[in-house]
Amino acid sequence: MLFKDTPFSLHPSFHHGQNTSIDALVQIIKACSSDNRHVRVVGSGHSFTPLVQTNDVLMSLEHIQGIEEIDTESNTVTVLAGTPLNTLGEVLYARGLAQENLGGIDVQSIAGAISTGTHGTGIGFGTLSTQVDGLTLVTATGELLECSPERNPDIFKAAQVSLGTLGVIAKVKLRVVPAKRLHFKSYRERLSDCLTNLEHYNQEHSHFEIFWFPHTPWVQAKFLNETEVPVSKSSLWGNFNKIVLENGLYWLLSECCRLLPPLSGTISKLSAMSIAPVNEVNYSHRLYVAPRVVRVQAMEYAIPAEHVQTVLSEIQACIKQHRFQVHVPLGCRFVHADDIWLSPAYQRESAYIAVHMYRGMAYESYFQHIEEILLRYDGRPHWGKMHTLDAARLATLYPHWHDFRRIRATLDPQDLFLNDYLRRLFDADGPVPSDTAHPHMGVVVQNDESHNLV
Ligand SMILES: Cc1cc2nc3c(=O)[nH]c(=O)nc-3n(C[C@H](O)[C@H](O)[C@H](O)COP(=O)(O)OP(=O)(O)OC[C@H]3O[C@@H](n4cnc5c(N)ncnc54)[C@H](O)[C@@H]3O)c2cc1C
Repeated sequence: MLFKDTPFSLHPSFHHGQNTSIDALVQIIKACSSDNRHVRVVGSGHSFTPLVQTNDVLMSLEHIQGIEEIDTESNTVTVLAGTPLNTLGEVLYARGLAQENLGGIDVQSIAGAISTGTHGTGIGFGTLSTQVDGLTLVTATGELLECSPERNPDIFKAAQVSLGTLGVIAKVKLRVVPAKRLHFKSYRERLSDCLTNLEHYNQEHSHFEIFWFPHTPWVQAKFLNETEVPVSKSSLWGNFNKIVLENGLYWLLSECCRLLPPLSGTISKLSAMSIAPVNEVNYSHRLYVAPRVVRVQAMEYAIPAEHVQTVLSEIQACIKQHRFQVHVPLGCRFVHADDIWLSPAYQRESAYIAVHMYRGMAYESYFQHIEEILLRYDGRPHWGKMHTLDAARLATLYPHWHDFRRIRATLDPQDLFLNDYLRRLFDADGPVPSDTAHPHMGVVVQNDESHNLV
């Protein structure tokens, strides 16, 4: 992905237990701070925006992984920040637990996933960041800072989605649920019927999403619901078919589109016609995700859920009018409102609309036109996917934008955790308005010995 080798790639090692690795992390941050370096932390490098690009220090926490504590009374687990979601899923499953929801892939690190507000689908579920009950940050001064709804609550609301700008997340405390089996059902349906049934689908099913095939009237509708039915038998042929044949064939068709873009409409129709009904039961962490081999460019926005029918109809008309040569389906998922300052679902029941273009094909004009539509409906961009918004525009979309900037500037006055992209995104050189709600207060950081940072 965007992960590039930089002059200083650091991997604090996991030698003698968890504390050692977090101690190593603290020492590295202290050294970087006193040397006036700039540090970016990479998870699994699966973001489409240049969040982790740097010519200075790039740090990976891939060796800081594992579960530190499982509390079965409060149903929480404390996870080291570099733990990949797929590892976490299997470890939780072995203990009879699960994350309440996941996105479409599970290779991200837990810290990387929450830092951009990664989400799945289901109007009863928030983004993965809403599963977080507490965080341990290594701040720019190399201090360990605990935050949770009770401790440093404002920093917590900022840190639940922070694009890695408040410090290095060392540990995450997550709310978990008992392991659950889901029934996965998927079939082809007309977009118009699906839009008519949208409300009912969202109410009747725990998880519902659609993929619309451009230039066709068809969607693939996907539903997941809890069940007591045993796990379906998986055949070797079924798995081979799903992972190798479907992805391989789709890659081949996509290559045809790349070489001959006018084929896009036909190939989208062919792909839509090949959607076969699926009925499968498995444990949740195995069903949320789908194998993805085909590489795409992606842009995704969260819009207020009530506009979804209108927006999808406008997008359909826009693709037709401009004859965009695109065959990769557009995704639409639903996410519950939350109270996290930089979450695209902040205080809004949201529909996330994701558009994709096969790698190597022209995407700029397509994304630009779709982005204009999404912005007309107050769309907020997914932080890990492509968008063109600047600080001024983002400030109008996020009520706590300046609160976030203020906390960032207080925790990291030397801009240790910024790269050029983030410096522009947060207008780090611009003025930070004072806290109008609490004009006499700075950012109060509660540590073991509670003290005021400003
Ligand atoms: C094929 C594909 C499918 C995807 N599917 C979905 C999906 O279904 N739903 C969805 O919402 N998104 C999806 N995404 C986007 C993806 O979930 C996010 O971009 C996510 O942030 C990537 O996690 P990562 O571990 O790769 O983090 P990275 O991309 O490496 O980093 C993301 C951010 O997290 C920060 N970070 C990482 N570790 C730490 C740490 N320890 N402390 C502080 N900051 C840290 C980084 O600095 C950066 O700002 C998809 C992306 C791809 C490529």
